[in-house]
Amino acid sequence: MLAASVLASPAHAQTQAPAAQQASPQHSATAPSGKAKNIIVFLADAGGVSVVNAASLLAYGEPLKLRIQQWPYLGLSETSPVDNFVSDSANGMSAIMTGIKTHNGVISQAADAVRKERDGAPTKTLLEYAEERGLLTGVITTQSIADATPAATYAHSNDRGKWGEIFPQALAPRFGDGVDVMFGAGRKKIGEQLSAAGTSFEALSQSHDRPIYASLDAVPQSNARPIVVADDMDVHAATLRALDLLEQSPEGYLLVVEWDAHTDDPRKGLENVVNFDKLIAEIENRVDLSDTLLLFTADHSFGLQVDGGQRGQDLLAGYDTWKAAEGEDAIVRLQNVLVNHSHTAEEVPALAIGAGAERVHGYFPNTHLFEIMMDALGWEPDSAALN
Ligand SMILES: [Zn+2]
Repeated sequence: MLAASVLASPAHAQTQAPAAQQASPQHSATAPSGKAKNIIVFLADAGGVSVVNAASLLAYGEPLKLRIQQWPYLGLSETSPVDNFVSDSANGMSAIMTGIKTHNGVISQAADAVRKERDGAPTKTLLEYAEERGLLTGVITTQSIADATPAATYAHSNDRGKWGEIFPQALAPRFGDGVDVMFGAGRKKIGEQLSAAGTSFEALSQSHDRPIYASLDAVPQSNARPIVVADDMDVHAATLRALDLLEQSPEGYLLVVEWDAHTDDPRKGLENVVNFDKLIAEIENRVDLSDTLLLFTADHSFGLQVDGGQRGQDLLAGYDTWKAAEGEDAIVRLQNVLVNHSHTAEEVPALAIGAGAERVHGYFPNTHLFEIMMDALGWEPDSAALN
């Protein structure tokens, strides 16, 4: 409530935008031309405003120390599904990737879907538009590569739990030749669900003539379109490796990188955000911001609040005691931090730098992020926006 009212205050709105632009001379030197050749989406799953703030406090003892907090353009992205106030990852990411809100649990299908019961019209994803136009594409995640957030980039399903139906869609694309680089986790559970669906990693590899490796290290240098489904994914290594491949594309590329930021375990979640931010800083230094748009956002927010603490002292005082007690409580009450184990409805940050970043401003529904990316690439959505 406090954060929202401060952000909404006209006085802040007037002083903040010019100040942010003036504060970073290097940003104006690479002023966005408005047209992006490449886009990288950094998706912090459950990384709301309060989580981003707390990550800075934890790692640096002060607010506003993350690299993403130095970016010149920001908006507040509203994440709700068509019927409820609070989103899950399936609706949240589907809306960002397709420009169309749906129901929780549904993967890139329109709101005529009934979860687990009836398919809705598939909604064409930004990744599918990119594939159709000959760009290289990549999807990377710390989570299962069939989990809702990555799935919303490449698959369509009436239920996020149907991994045996979701994962094979990566190998049978509706547009282009499908995701070029896929690095994620979830090998055991996806394998089980493939088996239940009468197939396997081996069978899919053979029928599509595309190996599915069990680790990043197993991928030969000669493979320009690698798929890795591992037990755990090192997203830092994976992202650098993916960029080596995607940067070869004369037509440009779309890369989506998800890093889990749920703060059920506050230390783990906040450290994830800090490490994600370090990776993002490395990528920001690597790419050419005159033709590449970097976008950081979240699929939905989460119930973490900082309600105490002092500079120079540990934000997570009391964490070790809570952790030792194997706290499974619905509410985590640390000295300075309160965590309600729940997704929450308030808007999430959308932060941008690079080509086309100036389009990100104000409050907007998360579907606007799809429009921003399409517009930055110079693309028009198909007429019905459904396909
Ligand atoms: Zn999520």
